[in-house]
Amino acid sequence: MLRRQATELSPSDATVKMRFLILVAGIALMGLAVGGLTFASQGRAAKLRGQLGQVDSESFRIAAEFADYVRELNMSLYRYGAGHDAADLRWFDKTSHELDRWIDQQKPKLLTTAEQSLMQQIDTAYDKYLAVARVLVTRLESLGQQSATLAEYAGLMRESDHLSQLGQALAQAHYQSRSGLVRQANETIGQLHTLVLVSLGGLFLLGAILAFGVYRHLIAPLRLKLVESQSLLERREKLASLGLLAAGVAHEIRNPLTAIKAALFIQQKQFPPGSREHADSQLVEREILRLERIVNEFLQFARPTEPRRTEVDAVALLREVGTLLTPQLARHNIQLTVADTPALRVQADAAQIKQVLINLIQNAADAIGENGAVRLTIRATRKRLGGREQAAAVLEVSDNGKGMSPEVQQRLFDPFFTTKETGTGLGLSIAAGIIEKHGGALQYQSWPGRGTTFGIILPQATA
Ligand code: ADP
Repeated sequence: MLRRQATELSPSDATVKMRFLILVAGIALMGLAVGGLTFASQGRAAKLRGQLGQVDSESFRIAAEFADYVRELNMSLYRYGAGHDAADLRWFDKTSHELDRWIDQQKPKLLTTAEQSLMQQIDTAYDKYLAVARVLVTRLESLGQQSATLAEYAGLMRESDHLSQLGQALAQAHYQSRSGLVRQANETIGQLHTLVLVSLGGLFLLGAILAFGVYRHLIAPLRLKLVESQSLLERREKLASLGLLAAGVAHEIRNPLTAIKAALFIQQKQFPPGSREHADSQLVEREILRLERIVNEFLQFARPTEPRRTEVDAVALLREVGTLLTPQLARHNIQLTVADTPALRVQADAAQIKQVLINLIQNAADAIGENGAVRLTIRATRKRLGGREQAAAVLEVSDNGKGMSPEVQQRLFDPFFTTKETGTGLGLSIAAGIIEKHGGALQYQSWPGRGTTFGIILPQATA
């Protein structure tokens, strides 16, 4: 289980901002794309609706115009046959030339092969019609003032019927080709609409992700920070009143204790070494020293001193503490080792950090009791300290003692919480206070029955 006094490492503000910017830009681009698509598809739809209306009338117009021309040609020949008026023949020539031009004008409008082949057939049939008409005109001219019989028009009628049928077929083919086009375009518009809808859905989804992201990365941490600061404030208030009480009691005890110590010192001189009185006085002296230690801890907890920070060689500091405590730990058959680590410099008050290390090592030794090992190491890392990520050094004290139960871990940093008969329960509170004043953090990891590792995190001197 891992507990930290410092806040957890989270993605930096810059990364979060960058992610939001990318998301917002994505949404904006998508919005633009959807807007463009909607605009384009609406324009296209309006155009196609217009075209759809035109198809009917255009096809009808083709059929009607062609039929009119053919009818006009037939009529002029009928009139000539009846009255032999040269004006009717001129009219026939003029109309046949117009029909020629009309056929040429229609050709570029024909898109499908069916239409083109029909137009080819019309061309051929029209040539044939004209040939039959010319033969008829020669026959009519030979009749002088006589009228021609209906039978003599039969060939012309056949060709003109054929032409009319081809005209109808062309109009039909034209209609089919255009409505096919319109159907295709309508399908494209349908697809465009689906695309717009899907994009809108995507936009909505991205918006939801953005809202969730804003809540998760901006609002939720703020709320958490608020709750944290509230409980921190409450805890500080509680500690302050506790500290005041402790300082008052400690102060009251300190003066009589000094007087008792002085009196004992004078008395001790009168007892011969080895006598029972001398042994008793030594016991009293030990207890006085213990009381003094408690009083000092009380005062230190109540009135923590500001660290005087300088650039400190952390490895040297660790070795110094190791050398100091090795003999004491050896008496309980506990081996203290300092791992070989690369040089790291921290910004710290050497005396205060030494005091924290001594406390942690003594706790480790207490957790072991007899026979075990305590290991001191240093490692470089990056941590979020004081609201920003920076280079840090972690000074670790690991033991293979009894570890801590979840209940102990819960109350570990509470002042006056102790599981030891002679403990004050102030060691870790004071240590956490000192490290906090250094702008660092005190963290730990504990495995019940297997051991504990405490880590002092301090900003590196170069940071
Ligand atoms: P004290 O040492 O006076 O009890 P501390 O604040 O230093 O006060 O420690 C509080 C409690 O935390 C200890 O009583 C002990 O139960 C637990 N503790 C601290 N360090 C360790 C450790 N290394 N292993 C197991 N328990 C520990």
